[in-house]
Amino acid sequence: MAKRTKYVKPEQREILTAEVLASKRIGPNFVRVTLGGPGLAGFTPMGYDQWFRLFLPGRDGLRLPSAASNLWYAQYLMMGKDHRPVVRNYTVRAWRPAGAGEFGETGELDIDFAMHGGETPACEWAGGVTPGERVGLLDEGIMYQVPQHCSYSLLVGDESALPAIAGILRSAPRDLRGAAYVEIVHPDDAQDLGEPEGVQVNWLVRSDPTAAVGSVALAAVRDAALPERGVYGFVAGEQRLASGVRRHLAADRGVPKADICFTGYWRVGRAQG
Ligand SMILES: Cc1cc2nc3c(=O)[nH]c(=O)nc-3n(C[C@H](O)[C@H](O)[C@H](O)COP(=O)(O)OP(=O)(O)OC[C@H]3O[C@@H](n4cnc5c(N)ncnc54)[C@H](O)[C@@H]3O)c2cc1C
Repeated sequence: MAKRTKYVKPEQREILTAEVLASKRIGPNFVRVTLGGPGLAGFTPMGYDQWFRLFLPGRDGLRLPSAASNLWYAQYLMMGKDHRPVVRNYTVRAWRPAGAGEFGETGELDIDFAMHGGETPACEWAGGVTPGERVGLLDEGIMYQVPQHCSYSLLVGDESALPAIAGILRSAPRDLRGAAYVEIVHPDDAQDLGEPEGVQVNWLVRSDPTAAVGSVALAAVRDAALPERGVYGFVAGEQRLASGVRRHLAADRGVPKADICFTGYWRVGRAQG
C-alpha cells in the first residue's frame, strides 16, 4: 500500500509580499485582517486548513529572506535579532480571487487572529495594523487528508484552530459526515461555518478563566458518541489538547494513530519564533 504523506505542500514556493487592505474586530476575541495587493497574484488557494508563515515587520521594518526553500530559515537567523521579521504561523480563513474581492481588484486573503490577551507580537500587530502595511507570506499547504477507509471526520480545536476547522468544513464534500468540537472563550466568538448537513458543530465555551485551554474540548470529546470504525481525527490547538485528544482516540477508541492528524499550534508559556 502506498504510504500516505503527512502534508500536501504547494507545488511552487515563494515568499510573497502582500499589503493590508483592512482589519476589523469580528468577535470579542478575534480580529480579521485582510491582505491583498499585486504581490498576492502568485498565491494558489488550496482550501481546507491551508496555512502559511506570516512575516511581520521587525524593529526596522519588513525585511524578508530571499529563499523560499528551507534555506529561508538560515537567512532569517543570519539577519540578527534586531533586523529579523517576526514570523508566526496562520491559516487562510478565506480567499477571494481577483475581481471578487471586497476591497479592490486583487485577490484577497483573510486571516482571523485569536487575540489571546497578552501583548504578543502577532496580536499586537493585528490589533493596531493600518491599511497599506506590508507583510510576507510563505505558503505551507494543508494537513487535513482523509484516508479512503475513513468515513467520519472528527475535528477538534481551540480558538487558534477555528480558522482551520472553518476552512475544512467549507472545502469538504457536501456529503461529509462528522462532528466538530471548537473551544472558544466567549459565545459571541462562534461563527457560521457553513458546515455540510452531516456534520454537527459543537461550540464549547471555556467560561472558567482558570481552566486550561483545551480542557473543555478534551472533556467533550471523551463524552462524544463516535462510530466504532472509520473515524479520521483532525486535532489542532494548544499542544496538550492536540496530544491529549490523540491519546484518547488511539488508546480508548481504537482509532489507528495513522488516522489522526494532530498538531500543536502553540504551547503554553512558549513564544513562537
Ligand atoms: C499551522 C498553524 C496554523 C495556525 N493558524 C492560526 C490562525 O489562523 N489563527 C490564530 O489565531 N492562530 C493560529 N495559529 C497559532 C499561532 O501561530 C500562535 O498562537 C502564535 O504563537 C501567536 O503568536 P503571538 O505572537 O501572538 O504569540 P507568541 O509570541 O508566539 O507567544 C507569546 C505567549 O503567548 C502564548 N500564546 C500563543 N498563542 C496563544 C493562544 N492562541 N492562546 C493563548 N496563549 C497563546 C504563548 O504560550 C506564549 O506564552 C496557528 C499555528 C499553526 C502551527
